[in-house]
Amino acid sequence: MVRVNSNYSKLQGSYLFSTIGKKVGEYTAAHPEKKVIRLGIGDVTRPLPGAVIAALHKAVGEMGEEETFRGYAPDLGYEFLRNAICENDYRARGCDISPDEIFVSDGAKSDSGNIQEIFSLDNTIAVCDPVYPVYVDSNVMAGRTGDFDAASGAYCDVIYMPCGRENDFIPKIPERKADIIYLCYPNNPTGAVIGKEELQKWVDHANAKGSVIIYDAAYEAYISTPGIPHSIYECKGAKTCAIELHSFSKNAGFTGLRLGYTVIPKELERDGISLHSLWARRHGTKYNGAPYIVQRAGEAVYSPEGKKEIRELVSYYMKNAAYILDGLQKAGYEVSGGVDAPYIWLRVPDGMTSWDFFDHLLENAGVVGTPGSGFGAHGEGYFRLTAFGSHENTVEAVDRITSM
Ligand SMILES: *Cc1c(COP(=O)(O)O)cnc(C)c1O
Repeated sequence: MVRVNSNYSKLQGSYLFSTIGKKVGEYTAAHPEKKVIRLGIGDVTRPLPGAVIAALHKAVGEMGEEETFRGYAPDLGYEFLRNAICENDYRARGCDISPDEIFVSDGAKSDSGNIQEIFSLDNTIAVCDPVYPVYVDSNVMAGRTGDFDAASGAYCDVIYMPCGRENDFIPKIPERKADIIYLCYPNNPTGAVIGKEELQKWVDHANAKGSVIIYDAAYEAYISTPGIPHSIYECKGAKTCAIELHSFSKNAGFTGLRLGYTVIPKELERDGISLHSLWARRHGTKYNGAPYIVQRAGEAVYSPEGKKEIRELVSYYMKNAAYILDGLQKAGYEVSGGVDAPYIWLRVPDGMTSWDFFDHLLENAGVVGTPGSGFGAHGEGYFRLTAFGSHENTVEAVDRITSM
């Protein structure tokens, strides 16, 4: 008899987005004439930049010619792309990362879920609360956690690091020993960023304790405030304790195309074993391949034209973020994020839960957001709005919220 992986039965149902879908469905059935505006989804909406489209067309043409056809891509990714990443995302920022420390993949979601495979099940993980759900869920499926405890809304044997307005959404370094520490800045869902000095403390802590930090930099391109680190490798000593995840999704619009990369420095080792070599084996055996044409599209992101278009894309969304922040602040809401990240984190009015506020917004403004409690127990009392809509819709949504 085949037995299935019973760890999967510990997973909580995808309650959040199915409940949102159900509630929106009921609302539209009751008010078919009303236009619902979605400011809740963590997906981009603008088309791909012209430089990316041109690179895709060119690469497709190459695949149809005998001289330029390409088969399996190299395990770590094509050198042309790893060189472009290295030059632009690291060397230009003074980070000492080399192209052969970069692993190209089909996105940061898979890498953030799969990276735990190179660590023993004995390790304890620490995550921010609220948090992007993939980090915890992938560890649950692997069997690195206990059961879900409905009363506390948390899995047993996971260290949750509360992030709220009392600590500016930057967690305290946990007292219990955390082996694998997940950090994501700029943060989804809170939109918070971490300063260099603060991040340096985490790096120093990890080096002192032998922990490993998994640093999710998916929103790095949204940083505009000077001095905020774009990479954890801007901190001293990070190469001996940190793995960094990147994505082309939120900056360049690749959510449907799929491309990301992970950096594991050569000198990062635990138990005397190089984590780089373990991930290389993982990549060689269970590679989340990014096709040649997509890697060429990624290379185009770093061309002069591509860089200009990416800046325009990011500013398009950040104009939305600024409009949301400003409008809600003027209307008396307590809001944070939205400056170096495409997410606005709103504190729901006293006496309401996140879901109460969801219903309130849908009923009275026809606007859909995401209840903070969907991202963890400490997300209760907050609400996430995203800047990824069209500008027209964003303006209309804010005007409706502020006049309700
Ligand atoms: C969107 C997102 C990603 C996923 O990126 P993909 O490259 O599209 O898989 C990773 N981390 C966080 C925090 C995200 O919000």
